[in-house]
Amino acid sequence: MSKVIVAIDGPAGSGKSSVSKQVAREFGFAYLDTGAAYRALAWATLNGLSFERLAANDFETDFEYSISTDPDNFWVRVGEHDVTEAIRTSLISETVSSVAALSHVRDFMKRLTKKIVDECPYDGAIVEGRDITTVVFPDAQSRLLLTASEEVRLQRRSKELSADSASAVVNQVSKRDETDSKIVDFMNAAVGVTLIDSSNLDFDQTVSVMIAQIKADLKASAQ
Ligand code: C5P
Repeated sequence: MSKVIVAIDGPAGSGKSSVSKQVAREFGFAYLDTGAAYRALAWATLNGLSFERLAANDFETDFEYSISTDPDNFWVRVGEHDVTEAIRTSLISETVSSVAALSHVRDFMKRLTKKIVDECPYDGAIVEGRDITTVVFPDAQSRLLLTASEEVRLQRRSKELSADSASAVVNQVSKRDETDSKIVDFMNAAVGVTLIDSSNLDFDQTVSVMIAQIKADLKASAQ
């Protein structure tokens, strides 16, 4: 039986990771953070994988990637290295967009995402990332775009990365969104994708609104 797929797009700081994780718990589904693979590949280019080989599309055999899909036990590995924390640094955030801009990297990530979802031991998966509703799973049973005003997103992001100064975070997030949005339009909902604006919602409210929409979508797709 094929899996239930809930696809969630959204910009940095929209809360999509923490909200998606909680939604996955409530449905008993897998949680897949697709940005982690882009970050892990950026980490690999800073730790031995040459950017020339990446640019020449000669990296797949050297990039041994694995990720947990358990929302209560999250980890990310490259080969033997646990990179769960290492992929969250400012340096990775600054490097990742140039890795994500390579079209063969995006093709690779699309295949990788589908493989991880196919092989995970759950009946359904909450899959989040910037092109998930449009490119990777355009036929998912439920497709949502979670957003928030720029001001709210920057506030949330600077709270998350408390080691960085607020202004550095503001610059970093705005720059990354600008670069990324040239590749994928994650600010506007595509046809069939429901926009959920969390600017005026707290975490629990956002989770409730998402769950109600997903239930409605799953009911509609079963008819
Ligand atoms: O979601 P997160 O902010 O961790 O993603 C890191 C980066 O990976 C994004 O800035 C973007 O460049 C890239 N990405 C992407 N497509 C996805 C997920 C992430 O291009 N589905």
